[in-house]
Amino acid sequence: MEWKRPTRTSSPKPNFSRQTDNRVHTISLMRGPFQLCDSCYDTVVSEQLVDARNVASDHDAVFDSVCPNCYDRNRPLIDDMLGSSE
Ligand SMILES: [Zn+2]
Repeated sequence: MEWKRPTRTSSPKPNFSRQTDNRVHTISLMRGPFQLCDSCYDTVVSEQLVDARNVASDHDAVFDSVCPNCYDRNRPLIDDMLGSSE
């Protein structure tokens, strides 16, 4: 019989005390993590560009949906994915 170690009997409380105006969300693209601001994250979620695990399969659609700030923030990854798609 398998004996399971009790791990985290009390669930860890997320710390919401420090709220910032610009939260950064991270989704996963094929080549790496992609950071989004609040509103861009809302967009990709409502457009259903990410699945339940925040993995986006259609990176083109994600790149099209983000604001210039997010585009800039993720420029290396975007260049990498767009540049090597041949
Ligand atoms: Zn953004």
